[in-house]
Amino acid sequence: MRIFDPHIHMTSRTTDDYERMHGAGVRAVVEPAFWLGQPRTNVGSFLDYFDALLGWEPYRAAQHGIRHLCALALNPKEANDPRCMGVLDELPRYLLKEAVVAVGEVGYDSMTPAEDRAFEAQLAMAAEHDLPVLVHTPHRDKAAGTRRTLDVVKGLPPERVLVDHLNEVTVGMVADSGCWMGFSIYPDTKMDPDRMVAILREYGTERMLVNSAADWGRSDPLRTRAVGEAMLAAGFTADDVDRVLWRNPSAFYGVDPAAPITGDDYAGNTIKRGG
Ligand SMILES: [Zn+2]
Repeated sequence: MRIFDPHIHMTSRTTDDYERMHGAGVRAVVEPAFWLGQPRTNVGSFLDYFDALLGWEPYRAAQHGIRHLCALALNPKEANDPRCMGVLDELPRYLLKEAVVAVGEVGYDSMTPAEDRAFEAQLAMAAEHDLPVLVHTPHRDKAAGTRRTLDVVKGLPPERVLVDHLNEVTVGMVADSGCWMGFSIYPDTKMDPDRMVAILREYGTERMLVNSAADWGRSDPLRTRAVGEAMLAAGFTADDVDRVLWRNPSAFYGVDPAAPITGDDYAGNTIKRGG
């Protein structure tokens, strides 16, 4: 089983996790920029973090045979701190880098006017840089947050938008929108593998992405594999599993995760998109 985890925060994970992930079939990941738990108080703090996602983290992943790509953004929660807004001025030069395959996570946390401004500005940047967007949906008031999110992303082609952290309540509206549907599988909250299988049965495997969203909270980087196993046990074919866990994320991000990993990839700073 080959696995491409389209949303995982390896910064918060140990080297043992990389080892276990490789053993479970994980060969590629996308790490979106997010809230580190401790609020940041200045733009430089973000830039060091972005540089780590482009330098240190891909290097660490490569030692375990895993390709590490990233999505960069000012996350929704910290968009509420005016001291962090300047990140938006620095982002465009980062979006040119080869290992940056999307803008994200963007979206809503508490649905404030400041979050609206950051969200809209970053959607515009994604369009300008021809990048897909990873959109986080709020954990509180999820249905209203997802509805509003779909309204805001309408300006972009739906095939360039991934609406993440969905569940049984929100999947239908995103399926209708034409956007990609993301599911974060956690050990004991939100989605679990069996609920995921039920959703795949009802909605099919197209535009479906499954991630572990593993971070510093209670989470498990092997939940993607658990979904693959649950799919097989439920009668899905190995090809269905490959589509959901490998070909779908590759298609959404427009990357070939199986390309040989060379030294160049770890200088994620290489600029390949011109500018
Ligand atoms: Zn996340």
